[in-house]
Amino acid sequence: MKRRDFLKGASMLSLGALATGCTNPAKEGTATAIHAVGNKNMGLQIYTLGNELYAEDFSANLKRIANMGIRNLELAGYDPADRKIGGIERTDFKKMAEDAGLNIVSSHVNPPTVFSGAAGRENRTGRDGYFSGDMKSEIVESFKQIADDHAELGIEYLIQPMMPKEGINNINDVKVFCDTLNATGEEIKKHGVTFGYHNHNMEFCKVSDNSTSRFMGDILTRPYVEGEQIIDIMMRETHPDLVKFEMDTYWTIMGQNDPVAMLTKYADRIELLHIKDFVVLGESGALNFQNIFNKFFENGNQYYFIEIEDIDSGKQFERLEKSATWLAQQDYVK
Ligand code: MG
Repeated sequence: MKRRDFLKGASMLSLGALATGCTNPAKEGTATAIHAVGNKNMGLQIYTLGNELYAEDFSANLKRIANMGIRNLELAGYDPADRKIGGIERTDFKKMAEDAGLNIVSSHVNPPTVFSGAAGRENRTGRDGYFSGDMKSEIVESFKQIADDHAELGIEYLIQPMMPKEGINNINDVKVFCDTLNATGEEIKKHGVTFGYHNHNMEFCKVSDNSTSRFMGDILTRPYVEGEQIIDIMMRETHPDLVKFEMDTYWTIMGQNDPVAMLTKYADRIELLHIKDFVVLGESGALNFQNIFNKFFENGNQYYFIEIEDIDSGKQFERLEKSATWLAQQDYVK
């Protein structure tokens, strides 16, 4: 939900960034020691910073990120309507990122025919996030321009960050959804970009042949229900060469699953990680990041992205700095 709200607000915040004139000489000094923190392959999902990324001097903000030891970015906020990222021309965005020493590896984009975009457009049903199988060709078609734009930027991964809110309520619905994911991945692959899917907790809901809603068993408020987890059906029904997975550690926990067990069971499917804790990385103690990273690297993967929710806190840069510092201190993180 928060991601969608952010995407809706992305055009507004970029206008704000333009209005401020994008100069902040006081921050220029931070550009000096890029990667001073270490030589790890640290990444950031830029959704983390919300408006803070575009506030005052965008270019200086990118340098501030690089100075934390972060070298890879995963984008959020590409708008299929204007083909900009957070309201910034995508080639300008890439140039400024590169100048700061940041490599854009991946990008989150929802199918624009299913979800409202940054401009707040309604999808064709008038409901945000409704899916049915007859939307397949329209969805695949909509990804052609998106894939072209990302290929032009040299981005390796295009990730669908969530599933529609409505229309996926039983096992057959999930299979139909996976058929569209496969077709999307096939199209995106033609452009030289790898397609992937990122989980929240909704993918750990259970469905059955006859269920009319997806259901997360919650021992505190709801009875246990029989059924199969959507994520397990997705792993089975999507083609390994067409659909990769990006596992979000926090949302996997929220889905009552163990990230290490997921990395073990789906070693050949999960290629990317969102490293996320409750707020600042390592503070809650709820996630065993050592075991998570060890298994992730053992599987032969390299890209992970820090992500922190609550993007309107006004403290995201501060939280990111603490998280990156903590991560840089962990010997098991490469
Ligand atoms: Mg995430």
